[in-house]
Amino acid sequence: MPMVFPLSCSRTPTLPLKCATIMPSSQLLRFLVVLLFLSLVPKNATARDDFRVVLLSDTQFYSESFPETYMTQLRWIKDRAESDRIKFVIHLGDIVQNPDAENEWENADRAHRILDGVVPYSVLPGNHDLAHENGRTTHNAPLYNKYFPVARFEKYSWYGGHQGQTNANNYCFFEAGGAKYLILSLEYAPTDITLEWAGNVIARHPDHRVILATHCYMRPAGRDCICGGKLGNSGQEIWSKLVRKHGTIFLVVSGHVLGVAHQTSTNDAGGKVHEILCDYQGHPNGGNGWLQILHFVPAQSKLYVEAYSPLLQRSNKDPQHTYVLSLNNAPIVATAPSSTEPAELGIQTKVGPAQMQ
Ligand SMILES: [Zn+2]
Repeated sequence: MPMVFPLSCSRTPTLPLKCATIMPSSQLLRFLVVLLFLSLVPKNATARDDFRVVLLSDTQFYSESFPETYMTQLRWIKDRAESDRIKFVIHLGDIVQNPDAENEWENADRAHRILDGVVPYSVLPGNHDLAHENGRTTHNAPLYNKYFPVARFEKYSWYGGHQGQTNANNYCFFEAGGAKYLILSLEYAPTDITLEWAGNVIARHPDHRVILATHCYMRPAGRDCICGGKLGNSGQEIWSKLVRKHGTIFLVVSGHVLGVAHQTSTNDAGGKVHEILCDYQGHPNGGNGWLQILHFVPAQSKLYVEAYSPLLQRSNKDPQHTYVLSLNNAPIVATAPSSTEPAELGIQTKVGPAQMQ
């Protein structure tokens, strides 16, 4: 606060000072300038209830050919975790390019050790992390489960649990901005049984806002309808069987398809669900280290989606990569399924070809 000089209605300093205090004109001007400045500062800069979640997508080419970029990304996250209030890091799958290449898993392991015990993070298997049999993708993930087993995570209080004996489908927690969050990570093309498990996890935590992460869900042109085949469910099927039925899911994040995109849909309860794709794997150097950063500002009911590369040390302000979404910070209410099909709302953006997966 600027110094206030109490001056009375009288100029006699010995008189009682019962009138309103006033300032010399120079002090008053300075005070007004400070007030004006404070009114222009974004709420999040003073409220500090803001926080960030970082999306790490399709690191497969870093693990294969550019391991230093992977390390650079996670070192940056570690270094910025406190100042930027990074509460969680979500890997969206395709940790490696070749699921049976042990050296690629060693590179990924080395990178993630930077975060171990420092910043909570989740992983899930993409199609490139799953073993192949007779030319077909399976749900077996021997090296994923060797390098990212349940034992790596279950010692942390933020780790919620997993389906069956592996960490392929798992859930984690964090609290920030006065709310509880559940990160639910599902493997590529989850089966009906896995979706049922996921629904039960969500139902058991009705006071948590849910971020669903899975490898294939969105494409640049909209929700995926291709992934899975005989293995499991596509993005559209995940929406129909899980997302739309659970009113606490407010955000779905995915990778798999080169590009960035987002749309906002309406669930059965009439709530908004933001669906985000980010995958930079087709950029030079295996992705140029791009991260998508979710900057939550509850005081503004906003989610600022930002793109930053620790490798290039610059942001991408293109509106396809950097945009603002509205958040509903009202107390959450778990919802029952409805039989009506709501109209889908929102916009879609896209960039680049959608060939690389
Ligand atoms: Zn993929």
